[in-house]
Amino acid sequence: MESQTEALKSQLRSIVGAADLIDAGESLETLSKDYYWYSPVLKKQLEEKRADMAVRPGTIDELRKVVSACCAARVPIVPRGAGTGNYGQCVPLYGGVVVDFSRLDKIISLEGGVAHVQAGARLGTIETEARKVGWELRCMPSTWMKSTMGGFFCGGSGGIGSITWGGINAPGNVKSVTMMTCEESPRLVRLEEAESLKALHTYGTTGFMVEIEMRLARKIDYDQLILSAPDWDRLLDWTDEASRRLEWRKRLVTQFEWPIPSYFKPLAKHLRDGDSISFLLIDKAQTAEVIAHAKAAGIDCVFNKPLTDPPRPPFITDYTWNHTTLWAIKADPTITYLQSGFGPNFRQQFAELRRLFPGEILFHLEWTAGNAKMMKGNEVINRSNEVVVGGIPIVFYKGEERLNEILAACERIGVFIANPHTVLLEDGGRHPNIADKRAFKAEVDPFSLLNPGKMKTYPINPFAPEPAVL
Ligand SMILES: Cc1cc2nc3c(=O)[nH]c(=O)nc-3n(C[C@H](O)[C@H](O)[C@H](O)COP(=O)(O)OP(=O)(O)OC[C@H]3O[C@@H](n4cnc5c(N)ncnc54)[C@H](O)[C@@H]3O)c2cc1C
Repeated sequence: MESQTEALKSQLRSIVGAADLIDAGESLETLSKDYYWYSPVLKKQLEEKRADMAVRPGTIDELRKVVSACCAARVPIVPRGAGTGNYGQCVPLYGGVVVDFSRLDKIISLEGGVAHVQAGARLGTIETEARKVGWELRCMPSTWMKSTMGGFFCGGSGGIGSITWGGINAPGNVKSVTMMTCEESPRLVRLEEAESLKALHTYGTTGFMVEIEMRLARKIDYDQLILSAPDWDRLLDWTDEASRRLEWRKRLVTQFEWPIPSYFKPLAKHLRDGDSISFLLIDKAQTAEVIAHAKAAGIDCVFNKPLTDPPRPPFITDYTWNHTTLWAIKADPTITYLQSGFGPNFRQQFAELRRLFPGEILFHLEWTAGNAKMMKGNEVINRSNEVVVGGIPIVFYKGEERLNEILAACERIGVFIANPHTVLLEDGGRHPNIADKRAFKAEVDPFSLLNPGKMKTYPINPFAPEPAVL
């Protein structure tokens, strides 16, 4: 076995060069991990897991040779972008080879409102370049500076921009994806429009994404606002109304319950003790109107800074989505989190969770557009008024049993949870098309080598000690 591993190493080294074959030390450890440690449950499960080697192909031809060699050796293979996922998505469960896409990072074109890029291109670079030619990303995670298009496609769901454009899976956002099959003679397969959904959010189990075409939005010049009020409910009413005003051109609508704002140390000089706060990214042309509207509701604007072009910090997005959790864990390592979608009765759901778990949950809300919108080519022609309240509540961790009680209570009262405490694809979110994803995997990964163990309902895992249970 050891000699097979050594043989594969020297074969991969001869393809990519010695500097891009990593087989030991801190670098291999880093390339085997992501932000799984956000979850105390995953931390325990994944701490010891690592790849036998990582490889960084620099061209599509090198990628093809790498994939071919790994397939012939029948080893587990895990594609990797920037490794910012937070569910152990790119942590190998059975060793093997990590294929790092960081050298496949070309922006091929930014024309006609479409970003055509290699999978390893960073979203921050794409956003910066797109803005130079009058466009911006429709949605991006709060890790946008670092994370890659391939990683967002295979591991992400939405974020900044989703208040207008919905998640990455919303109709029209993805134009096409070109992927390489995991075979001894790898093929390129192109999936267009809605067909691409069978490879989307599949944790690298359905082929190597090589190129992605993502539709862009017309660039807007934004102001970054923080609105503050001592009264959570008053702020909630205002923020919810702001989220539903379609005439306000927004990229972000977020609300945090005190003491979450106290975790945002770099913002301390702007924030008031005890106040809950809301964040808005709003078209500059509408800033005065928004601030006046908030003032009339008894809410003060305590921070107003433009989002510069090209984008330069400070970014209020650095405190939103799953970055909120990061600031909270920094302040109190016993903190963990949930990822939730609330119903139209969200006020009652909050009250019920507070009643059941007093002092154990703090609310961090993110508003997004529902995916019910009609597209004509590049433009939204009819967006329903449907806005969804979701969020990433903070939880003071009291053990796995208590966490499961919270998850069960959420289910009982109709709060959707995308469980962030599992590495299993199907348990981590909604996959209405999981049968399509399984069928596609069978087609493009005939030896079941890709990120084995992550697609729970896939019947074949050659590396599992026992056959996977359907
Ligand atoms: C602080 C913080 C904030 C975050 N905020 C958000 C957020 O707002 N919204 C959101 O959706 N996510 C968020 N995330 C999760 C993560 O940052 C995003 O999903 C990000 O887009 C992942 O990109 P990446 O390049 O780091 O992917 P990675 O972590 O490297 O990979 C993610 C998954 O995709 C697979 N993969 C990567 N590249 C390829 C490829 N070329 N072909 C096939 N499979 C591939 C990997 O195997 C893995 O399963 C956050 C995470 C953290 C730690």
